[in-house]
Amino acid sequence: MKKVYLKRKISSRIANGHPWIFANEVEKIEGDINGGEVTDVFTHDKKFVGKGYINPKSQILVRLLTRNKSDEIDEQYFLKKLTECWEYRKKLGYIENCRLVFGEADALPQLIIDKFNDYFVIQTLALGIDVWKPAIVKALNTIFNPKGIYERNDVPVRELEGLPQQKGFLSEPFDTNIIIHENDLQFYVDLENGQKTGYFLDQQDNRRAIRHIVEGAEVLGAFTYTGTFEIHAAHYGAKSVLGLDISANAVAQANRNAELNAVQHICRFETANAFDVLKQWGKEGRQYDVVMLDPPAFTKSRETIQKAITGYKEINLRAMKLIRPGGFLVTSSCTNLVNPDLFLQIIDMAAKDARRKLRQVTFQTQSADHPVIRNIETTQYLKFLIMQVE
Ligand code: SAH
Repeated sequence: MKKVYLKRKISSRIANGHPWIFANEVEKIEGDINGGEVTDVFTHDKKFVGKGYINPKSQILVRLLTRNKSDEIDEQYFLKKLTECWEYRKKLGYIENCRLVFGEADALPQLIIDKFNDYFVIQTLALGIDVWKPAIVKALNTIFNPKGIYERNDVPVRELEGLPQQKGFLSEPFDTNIIIHENDLQFYVDLENGQKTGYFLDQQDNRRAIRHIVEGAEVLGAFTYTGTFEIHAAHYGAKSVLGLDISANAVAQANRNAELNAVQHICRFETANAFDVLKQWGKEGRQYDVVMLDPPAFTKSRETIQKAITGYKEINLRAMKLIRPGGFLVTSSCTNLVNPDLFLQIIDMAAKDARRKLRQVTFQTQSADHPVIRNIETTQYLKFLIMQVE
């Protein structure tokens, strides 16, 4: 067994429960390290810290799986962990569709598994978890007897771990265009070519939160992807709904989803750059009762955080200008780099520039199948805010 010893003076992050150990926090390593292997970690004075997988190619040298010395990391361990993940989701009522495994938040660092009823999409984003892919697939087969399992490892972050980008079947091939149910609606999900794992399950509870404010409303949605929020708005009684996305594929899928739910007479989708179009329509004096925004992260690193702040401020400012007095802004941010307080500050700045007053209706995070773990700040990433705009 390899042994990793931490330096004496390091931040309290690891002691407080965070699973990442950076290379510059390590004093010495005993034994040859092979990337991907499980290693024991000790403090500088030889107290056991935990077991985790090591990758000398990554700045995050070790990712801890357990703090329990007696845990054996083997095939059985992954069956046990996945069973626990499933029990937790069932307990909270996420049965048909859910994020079954949310990486660090489930003590399975860099493993993502989304469950779409009988189909599963997997991402193994670190070398240490990638080597356990066969064990994970076996565990899924044991617990769920699924109709299909698909790998969406076409993610650039894998390259930081020395892993190739790839996607494909981890079961017998199947039709990767499936239909899922959410809040009494149906949506096509393209597991092979959709964004990320194909569908954003993290907003599933937030989509219900618009129910009352959209009744009888003229609604504009930007960054619509496959139209989930917009089709909910139509279902909840909006008078008209227009959804915008820069991706023509997403817009085509959104229009198919509108037809699938028989709301195509209320709800239509167009390909557009939201930044340009919202600015233009503001100048033209167009007005809506509800404007919904769900933009991408704008940044992936702390160094370019200013870029994200500028992007969020600008798009929210433009949206506010399009809202009738007394109407509603529904706005999200999906990067953990912008924490909830900062997001509210950005919205306040936008309101100041737009000369509008805001009344906070609701402020939520991701659905509970994506658990937030105290002391692991990356696990709290989604902000979902509804404001009445006076
Ligand atoms: N609301 C969606 C998820 C949105 S993901 C849901 O709940 O399913 C963000 C979307 O923003 C992506 O579909 C991406 O194509 C789109 N996007 C990125 N930049 C954009 C831009 N400048 N204008 C319009 N859409 C954009």
